[in-house]
Amino acid sequence: MGKHEHHPHGHGHSHDDGHAHHGHDPKTLSVYRATFPNKAKVMAETPDPAVKAMLEHLEAQGCSTCFDRFDAQQPQCGFGLVGTCCRICAMGPCKITPKSPQGVCGAGDDLIVARNLLRWVAAGTASHAARGREVMLALKGAAEGRLDLPLLGEGKILKTATALGLKTEGRPLAAVAGDLVDVLLEDLARTLPGAHRTLAALAPPERLAVWKELDILPMGTYHEVFEALHRTGTGTDGDWRSVMHQFLRVGLAFAWGSVAGSAVAMDALYGLPRRDRVIANLGGLEEGFVTLAIHGHSPVLVDAIVSASREEDLVAQAVAAGAQGIRLYGICCSGLSAMYRRGGIRPLANAMGAEMALGTGALDLWVADMQDVFPSIMEVAACVQTPVITTSDSCHLPGAEHFALDHAHSNLDQLQALGRRIVAEAIQSHGKRKAVPRFVPNVSMEAEVGFSVENLTEHFGGLKVLAEALRDGRLRGVVNLVGCNNPKVLYEKAVVTVTDALLAQDVLVLTNGCASFPLLKLGYCLPEALERTGPGLRSLLGGPAPLPPVLHLGECLDNARASGLLRALADLTGQDLKYLPFAFASPEWSNEKGVGAALGFRLLGLDSYHCVEAPILGSRNVHHFLTVETRELLGGAMVVEPDPQVLADRMLADLSQRRLALGWSS
Ligand code: SF4
Repeated sequence: MGKHEHHPHGHGHSHDDGHAHHGHDPKTLSVYRATFPNKAKVMAETPDPAVKAMLEHLEAQGCSTCFDRFDAQQPQCGFGLVGTCCRICAMGPCKITPKSPQGVCGAGDDLIVARNLLRWVAAGTASHAARGREVMLALKGAAEGRLDLPLLGEGKILKTATALGLKTEGRPLAAVAGDLVDVLLEDLARTLPGAHRTLAALAPPERLAVWKELDILPMGTYHEVFEALHRTGTGTDGDWRSVMHQFLRVGLAFAWGSVAGSAVAMDALYGLPRRDRVIANLGGLEEGFVTLAIHGHSPVLVDAIVSASREEDLVAQAVAAGAQGIRLYGICCSGLSAMYRRGGIRPLANAMGAEMALGTGALDLWVADMQDVFPSIMEVAACVQTPVITTSDSCHLPGAEHFALDHAHSNLDQLQALGRRIVAEAIQSHGKRKAVPRFVPNVSMEAEVGFSVENLTEHFGGLKVLAEALRDGRLRGVVNLVGCNNPKVLYEKAVVTVTDALLAQDVLVLTNGCASFPLLKLGYCLPEALERTGPGLRSLLGGPAPLPPVLHLGECLDNARASGLLRALADLTGQDLKYLPFAFASPEWSNEKGVGAALGFRLLGLDSYHCVEAPILGSRNVHHFLTVETRELLGGAMVVEPDPQVLADRMLADLSQRRLALGWSS
């Protein structure tokens, strides 16, 4: 690879010579780079024909996608890839090479890699917490009567309040919900040192003892993110081990504050998932309707949009504009949570597929709230004349209209009015867009969605059936297969390859978020997919009311549902999570939240499996800590194999190993 005189970061050094240290693995940076597919390979091998058709169409239209931009970025900065680029202060930027093994301040490879990673997980924790906070504020508004929304999750409110030791008997539901949300908000933003109450009430006792022994119990989410930024500042924490200690603590703040706390708030306000059968993929875009896509992660305004789209006067306006009605479509996680709570919303694409869904020209309005909304969507939106509305104070896009809750949420009481205004915009846009050409691949698939611990318990008449199948080997393991996408691995193919391998060996797959889209689109979320499993899983899930072998649990905060199911199975088998044949996989992960999600499951004692390397290859010690040492400390470590088949084989071997250690059939 050639040297670069000029490059976007302006470091004044070549970007292709970062040094990868490997504690136990002979892979080098160049071998890793050689695994990255280019766009031509994606177009030839990505598994969904609708994606192929859209990539060809957008290329013909001269619209670039993330795959073009990924190719244009090659070769990516080697120091960034292995984590040894430090930009924390203005004495730098500093890079680590054999000739310059320390930054100007004296920081070496281990410290620089550890600090960079801690800042990533802190950012991921802030992301999930920010949207959780929005729901918590809405729940508080509803409990106090400032927001006209019913509390649909009575069971969740009472169960969680009881676990937290709050008084429930003889009190109105709104009062209990008010107390509950105060605890969730306090856990988010505790100022004085004290216990994290949600974690203490909901985490398994065995884990609490492990975390206490390691001294990694978090105080509150804001505090641990604040402390992560403090600790990684120039000349503050100079010990990579101490930085990684805070990394583990932030991981707990992520899992129990940002994820579990937010998931409780969502279920309390909007109710539990409802099982449903939906139509997935671009072929679900129907002509003749006002069409509106919802994209992002926050359900608060989305819920108001769904309600508005069903109000008689707005439906009548749509009909008056020449449409048959109003259709909502889901992109990424906002779409998935609205889909399983409100019904009637068709999932089209994950965050990386947003450009392709927009590029169909079949959407009258695109509503983006927060996170995984790439700025590139504005270019495609302009090509197909689809107006974009942003709905979060934290997320603006040049050229988009902005209808949002303000920074202080002072207009929370106007939520319904905002929802109506947005639907009215979609109707208006429909009238103006009739001449815009559509290109909609005729590819769609039905899918079963909306699974939860509660409705699975109901389905099986208790989860004992699953626990017994786990013991006798009909069910050889359970894998939570989630995460975003990343052009460093072949789009959506890694998820499918890993799923095929797991199902064939009778491993049940739970899924949510971006990774779930190929599984929705390609038939894995249908009972018919039991044909792709081994005989054990087929006999367990088949029968008069068959279930799919891939259970769709929703959006990315629904990792809380997956960990709840695994915890319930652990309790029924009488074994700790760290011994059971369970695993976490995010083969195509890409963002900061993905670091927190994998860490959250490793903290539970599960191994995490990925095809994308974290930027830690530049530190022998940090790499060893995450891939080896944490298995001793927590019971779970990180495993990375860029080839998805190799990754799946490793996962299956590790699950078998866990079964053997329990004395169960391998
Ligand atoms: Fe360089 Fe140290 Fe500043 Fe980082 S903190 S940029 S290593 S001087």
